[in-house]
Amino acid sequence: MAGHGAFLATITGSFSTPAGDNPTVVMVEAAYRHHGIDARYLNCDVDAASLADAVRGAAAMGWAGFNCSLPHKVTVIDHLESLAPSAELIGAVNCVVRREGRWVGENTDGRGFVSSLDGVVDLTGARLVVLGAGGAARAVAVEAALAGAASVAVVSRSAAPGEDLARVLRERTGASSEHVPWDGDLAVGPDVDVLVNATSIGLGDDRARVPVDLSTLSSSCVVADVIPNPPQTWLLRAAAERGNPTVDGLGMLVAQGAHAITLWTGLEPDQAVMRGALAAALATP
Ligand code: NDP
Repeated sequence: MAGHGAFLATITGSFSTPAGDNPTVVMVEAAYRHHGIDARYLNCDVDAASLADAVRGAAAMGWAGFNCSLPHKVTVIDHLESLAPSAELIGAVNCVVRREGRWVGENTDGRGFVSSLDGVVDLTGARLVVLGAGGAARAVAVEAALAGAASVAVVSRSAAPGEDLARVLRERTGASSEHVPWDGDLAVGPDVDVLVNATSIGLGDDRARVPVDLSTLSSSCVVADVIPNPPQTWLLRAAAERGNPTVDGLGMLVAQGAHAITLWTGLEPDQAVMRGALAAALATP
C-alpha cells in the first residue's frame, strides 16, 4: 500500500503461540514482493497474557492489521471495536483490520474455503455435509451457507458444538441445517454435492482415515479437505481413486491469506505466487 512516504512501510503480521512453525509469513511476503508493495508481515509469538498489550502496541505502531491464530481466535474479540457479520456468526476472528482508527474483526477462513471451490462447484443451492464442529467447521459452514448453500449437515462426534452450529445456521442464514451424530462410518447419500472434512483428522498424517463410507457418495460429489499439511490427505486420495473431484486445504489456506491481504491493502494478490511460496516452505522442514 502506497501513501505512507518512502521510508514508512505498511505493517501487518500475526499473533499466536507457538508461532515458530506458522508459514503464513512466507506466502504473504511473497505476495508483497511480487506486487512491489512496501509492506511487512511480522510473525509474532504472543501468549494469552500478552495479547491485550500486543493489540495496543499494534495500534500504537499504526499496523494495518494482523492475523490471529491459536490460542487467540476467540479471546481477541474482547480487544476489538467491532466484528464483521460473518465473524460474529462464526464466533471467531482470524484477521483483524484497522478501519478509521478502530479494530474490526473478520474471519477469512470460511471465505478462503468458498473461494477454493471457485470453478469446481457452484454453492448456490448446493447440499453440503461438513465433518466436525470446531473453529474451521464453523467458518466453512457459515460461509458456505452465506454463499447460498441450500443445506449444511453438521456431522460431529461431540453433540453440543454440532447442535449449536446447526442452530446458528438455521436461525441466522438461509440454509437448512441439522446435526448428525458421528458414530462409525458415515453414510453420506447420493444427493450431497460437497463433502468437507473440517476436522483435524489428517493433520501431519497422510494415512489417517476419516470415518466415511465413500461408496455412499455420488460420483459428482466434490470432496474437500481443510487440512493444508500434507495437502494430499487419505480422504482426498481415496475420493480421487473413486473418480470424485477433490479440493485440498492448501488452496483454502492460500485463499484466506489472499482475502486478508485484500482487507489490509486493497490488493488482490496473485494466489499462484502465494501457493508456490507456501508449498515450498511446507516441503522444507
Ligand atoms: P478444533 O480443535 O476447533 O476442532 C477440531 C474438530 O475435529 C472437532 O470438531 C473435533 O471433534 C474433530 N475431530 C478431531 N479428531 C476427530 C476424530 N478422530 N473423529 C471425529 N472428529 C474429530 O480445530 P480447528 O477447527 O481450529 O482446526 C481443524 C483443522 O482445520 C486443523 O487441522 C487446521 O489445520 C485446519 N484448518 C485449516 C485452515 C486452512 O486454511 N486450510 C484454516 C483453519 C484450520 P471433537 O469435538 O469431538 O473432538
